[in-house]
Amino acid sequence: MSNTLPIVPMLGGADFAVRRILCIGRNYAEHAAEMGADVREPPFHFTKSLPALFIADGPTAWPYPAATSDCHHELEVVIALGCGGADLTPDQGAACVVGWGLGLDMTRRDLQTAAKKAGRPWASGKDFDGAAICTPLVPSSVFSPGAQGPLVLRVDEVERQRGDLSQLLWPVPALIAQLSTLMTLGAGDLIYTGTPAGVGPVAVGQTLVGTFPGLPTLTVTVVSREVAHGVV
Ligand code: MN
Repeated sequence: MSNTLPIVPMLGGADFAVRRILCIGRNYAEHAAEMGADVREPPFHFTKSLPALFIADGPTAWPYPAATSDCHHELEVVIALGCGGADLTPDQGAACVVGWGLGLDMTRRDLQTAAKKAGRPWASGKDFDGAAICTPLVPSSVFSPGAQGPLVLRVDEVERQRGDLSQLLWPVPALIAQLSTLMTLGAGDLIYTGTPAGVGPVAVGQTLVGTFPGLPTLTVTVVSREVAHGVV
């Protein structure tokens, strides 16, 4: 048992120690609409705990999670903070981004939907082993989000999701500023910025490939938990 923080590799730089995982919900209008939400409502956030982090450094086998029969992919751009504070301006927030990566906010949609109906927290749907997939990070010194997308997810080579950071309801500087009104942000915060429309279920045997120009390709193949644990 280790008490050290989990690490996301930083390409050409120091490893990024993660102290907290924050996720933005409904940050693309078309995704909010497909979830049946009122698209005029502002985005919001939720969290995943540190053991949910799953690094996809090159093609990686990803175990299908427990307790679900409807696990969905949500491809997202991920940002890593090297500093923080409370009540940041958007410019101050943007200046704290030290790295960028691609991530999958994996979601047990059946459990999330049941929790929503019961008026309960989403934790069972969003926070589980392997729920926060992330590629190695590219330092902000060499990656400019001005190099626009597309952000694309293909499942077995069929396109499922496509978006662009220009579509974010809360652009990156604004979402950092917004989060900093709710909590003191700091170095080690990893933020999933939201997913475009096209979320859907994954199945054992499928290969998910996420791309965004300038970021590492995210490639995971879904395997059964039994295979992953060697208990065939
Ligand atoms: Mn998401």
